Amino acid sequence: MSRESMEFDVVIVGAGPAGLSAACRLMQLAQSNEQELTVCVVEKGSEVGAHILSGAVMETRALDELFPDWKELGAPLNTAVTADRVVMLKDAERVTALPNALVPKPMHNDGNYIVSLGNVCRWLAEQAEGLGVGVFPGFAAAEVLYHEDGSVKGIATGDMGVTAAGEQGPNYMPGMELHAKYTLFTEGCRGHLGKQLISRFKLDQDADPQHYGIGIKELWDIDPAKHQPGLVVHGSGWPLTESGASGGFFLYHTDDHQVVVGLITDLNYANPWLSPFDEFQRMKHHPEISRVLAGGKRVSYGARAIAKGGFNALPKMTMPGALLLGCDAGTLNFSKIKGTHTAMKSGMLAAEAVAEALLAGDEGGRDLSAFTDAFKASWLYDELYRSRNFGPAMHKLGTWLGGAFNYVDQNWFGGKIPVTLHDTEHDYAQLKPADQSPKIDYPKPDGVLSFDKPSSVFLSNTNHEEDQPCHLQLKDARIPISQNLPMFAEPAQRFCPAGVYEVVEGENGPQFQINGQNCVHCKTCDIKDPAQNITWVVPEGAGGPNYPNM
Ligand SMILES: Cc1cc2nc3c(=O)[nH]c(=O)nc-3n(C[C@H](O)[C@H](O)[C@H](O)COP(=O)(O)OP(=O)(O)OC[C@H]3O[C@@H](n4cnc5c(N)ncnc54)[C@H](O)[C@@H]3O)c2cc1C
Repeated sequence: MSRESMEFDVVIVGAGPAGLSAACRLMQLAQSNEQELTVCVVEKGSEVGAHILSGAVMETRALDELFPDWKELGAPLNTAVTADRVVMLKDAERVTALPNALVPKPMHNDGNYIVSLGNVCRWLAEQAEGLGVGVFPGFAAAEVLYHEDGSVKGIATGDMGVTAAGEQGPNYMPGMELHAKYTLFTEGCRGHLGKQLISRFKLDQDADPQHYGIGIKELWDIDPAKHQPGLVVHGSGWPLTESGASGGFFLYHTDDHQVVVGLITDLNYANPWLSPFDEFQRMKHHPEISRVLAGGKRVSYGARAIAKGGFNALPKMTMPGALLLGCDAGTLNFSKIKGTHTAMKSGMLAAEAVAEALLAGDEGGRDLSAFTDAFKASWLYDELYRSRNFGPAMHKLGTWLGGAFNYVDQNWFGGKIPVTLHDTEHDYAQLKPADQSPKIDYPKPDGVLSFDKPSSVFLSNTNHEEDQPCHLQLKDARIPISQNLPMFAEPAQRFCPAGVYEVVEGENGPQFQINGQNCVHCKTCDIKDPAQNITWVVPEGAGGPNYPNM
């Protein structure tokens, strides 16, 4: 059976905020010009939103531009932020609240909304479909297709029904080729096709290395008496400071007596014994958090990496026949810990450049420099430029000094302090050897506030077809045991928040085991493996977590 193909004006890979905003904007522009465009969006989750995991406090700037009447259209932004609290966890017991005047301005959340980004994406997909976009969940883009001249031709969705041995099973269905004049890659942080494009077109040759965090999040039903709808709490410090690592936690009071709680661990940590999952579990025992959760019930769990290198790490976003957008490129504003409005705006700017070209009769395949010009003239560029120092300051100067630098840069200079800090070290290269790093003994979960990985992954509703090739590929199968185990005590066992990687005792000694069916598609392994030996590729479409409202 050979692959069939379909032709579109624009194919979009990934139904997140960037991809769906691009789709909506393309159709709006086609309609206002009384012309037609054919646009489709493929999404690897079983439904739109199934793989979306975010905080999320949402700034509406891009949404206001895309759908000025979003309230009338029923967008699920139901909880306006009512109060902001920024704290430092000094140790396992003590907390200091930062006076509002000392908080860097971008961290204020007046006018923002606490949302489930999954639900916002479901709503955006409805708007896109209403405008005539074909949205296809359950289809993973597995391969980039190229024309003979090297320009991007489109994508191919993955084959279905291939067995674990790599053979065609009874339900085999070849993937489809989706050809387009322009293909927009909006796969989110560490997109697996985006990674290939960055390398092939050397898109990052003038950029600093990208930096990442791993965000682990839970949704809790809490005692109504403790619920303060609209309260946003951010904090840093303990427990990560104990091992010299950095990151920050969030606790948002949404509606329906629920809170979301999460910890983002910066992936430049050095101690290979560190486990972001266990850091998060013990963090919930801090009184600042446990007093809110006590008496409540955990209802959901998930994890997703975040690309936070910002302006300095942004690759070139155009290439012949395609654009790389949203967190696939790295448009998140780390000073706000927000990437939704920036991802949306990048998608909208791309849609405007692509629509202008196509509606004027362009046959596709060009490197759309009009996008770069529009991006440079946009508020998105200005916003990212002003926050360019935020991450490097924290990485280079530490939490306190870096925080002070950011306060001065943001509150006194509006982000335009006449110096640019760079962080040129790759996150994966930061691990120190295990025997030179203090071992961390994490407390056993109590099953009330803290939990183990299996029961957590259970709550992510993760499901993969079992008889399929493993989607976590090792470039060299010997490295985990021959190199990573002696040097770093195989850190994949700990940095994976889903229990995918284990070292088990086999007949011939230790063996590396990959439990691919547990994977929640967070991409941490692809980012943090010190040998860069693990490649995350898409599994069969619809496999992965099924987040109801993360
Ligand atoms: C823990 C955490 C907390 C955050 N908190 C906030 C916050 O409070 N406020 C805020 O504004 N931002 C926050 N962010 C960041 C925000 O979620 C992202 O910036 C935003 O989601 C990026 O949008 P995107 O469209 O680029 O990518 P994504 O939202 O990641 O969407 C990408 C989509 O593409 C799909 N996809 C990927 N690869 C393929 C493929 N090959 N084929 C088909 N489909 C594919 C994915 O399944 C997904 O649905 C947070 C992120 C995390 C992880």
